[in-house]
Amino acid sequence: MQYVSTRATRASASRNPETFSSILLGGLAPDGGLFMPAEYPRVSGEELNAWRKLPYAELAYEILRKFATDIPEADIKALTAKTYTADVYRNARAGESAADITPLRTLEEEGSQGVGTKLVLQALSNGPTLAFKDMAMQLLGNLFEYALAKNEDELNIFGATSGDTGSAAEYAMRGKRGVRVFMLSPAGKMSPFQTAQMFSLQDPNIFNIAVEGVFDDCQDLVKAVSNDLSFKARHKIGTVNSINWARVVAQVVYYFRGYLAATTDNSQKVSFTVPSGNFGNICAGHIARMMGLPIDKLVVATNENDVLDEFFRTGVYRVRKSSETYHTSSPSMDISKASNFERFIYDLVGRDSERTHALFRKVETHGGFDLSGGPDADGDEFKRVGEYGFVSGKSTHADRLETIRMVADDYGIVIDTHTADGIKVAREHMTPGVTMIVLETALAAKFNETILDALGTDAERPAGFEDIESLPQKFVLMRPNVDEMKTFIAAHTGL
Ligand SMILES: *Cc1c(COP(=O)(O)O)cnc(C)c1O
Repeated sequence: MQYVSTRATRASASRNPETFSSILLGGLAPDGGLFMPAEYPRVSGEELNAWRKLPYAELAYEILRKFATDIPEADIKALTAKTYTADVYRNARAGESAADITPLRTLEEEGSQGVGTKLVLQALSNGPTLAFKDMAMQLLGNLFEYALAKNEDELNIFGATSGDTGSAAEYAMRGKRGVRVFMLSPAGKMSPFQTAQMFSLQDPNIFNIAVEGVFDDCQDLVKAVSNDLSFKARHKIGTVNSINWARVVAQVVYYFRGYLAATTDNSQKVSFTVPSGNFGNICAGHIARMMGLPIDKLVVATNENDVLDEFFRTGVYRVRKSSETYHTSSPSMDISKASNFERFIYDLVGRDSERTHALFRKVETHGGFDLSGGPDADGDEFKRVGEYGFVSGKSTHADRLETIRMVADDYGIVIDTHTADGIKVAREHMTPGVTMIVLETALAAKFNETILDALGTDAERPAGFEDIESLPQKFVLMRPNVDEMKTFIAAHTGL
């Protein structure tokens, strides 16, 4: 399997065919595009049937080996077996089995003309940090350690977080040989729970840096340090952001798993609703569908930050300024542009990389593009969006509170705010006879403030998290100063 950039020119594409291992540790392609497989591996009906009875780790192996063809199969098997265990994904609730890794729970079942329509939750949030990012990040940690050991190399991950991504990265990389994590967060701006989750890690390869400033100051520092190319090379600085291809592949697995767990034979279709921000999660659903998984609809659910909903309703992609990006009660979806969206647009425009390049150049110069086919549009490909199964919807703070209350009253299940956005939008796109799976992207305990508002009671905390705020915390407090940051990193990389 070879990988190409969504912005490749003919010359650069033929010069540098990339392998899975060669793009594993990197981010963007050198031309600024995102890596995509040169073609999608197809999964036959026979294969799909054989996969029905596999444990999660073995399903992950079957899918990963199609994409990581340059890694020996025995190694992939060992890595997936080590990652997807009931112990790692231990935060299953009553009625769920941890061994299922992503257990399903049925909320509603409706019969209409003899066909049952179900609304099902698939839990992706039972990992160490209680959010779906663990699904991919835990595998990434093991893949990184494996690849670095093979090349006798090391990597220093440097990033900024306002919550979920940073903690998922730290829990995936803690104790891994050859990897250090330097994670910036705005001092005093994360919730006490999120702060405790990150800062209570005592591993010597994890460095929490609380920056006196806001999240944008943290991001500016990461950019400033990363723009110093010689510093970056000397100190082997890398990232683990959501455009990382291995993360996307790891996420493909649970779409297969959800489908197989919700159906009994391959003639049945299911739809997925995905609480979306950077389009990373649902991009994996698109890839699963392109591989032949019988998915009917892929429903993009956004919060008030509705960049993606606007595109899937109108064909206009218009990124927001930071002043137009709202802080909401589903904060992990508060994005101004969707960093993985280019992967879908590349497929939508027929994998024409010159055109993809031109469209995303226009995002940089004009803040967006228009594929609606209107008089001044940049194209008319929006008319083909339906062929890819995509539809969308949006949810607000009031919808979130109402949905959390309704699900608690009717089913006795407390859902988190992001999942509430998903359920609200899923209801608008139900088709008789087609099971709708809503991806549960976090546990409610992580966003307890809103649960208290909605229900008047605290969300239940999984075992082991009861006293997390009282654990000793390890972090350094720093000013937003680029030189001081570089000095700190240099002192701790030993390079
Ligand atoms: C990151 C995150 C999302 C958004 O996922 P994308 O891949 O960015 O679309 C949704 N919910 C939660 C809880 C998250 O942490």
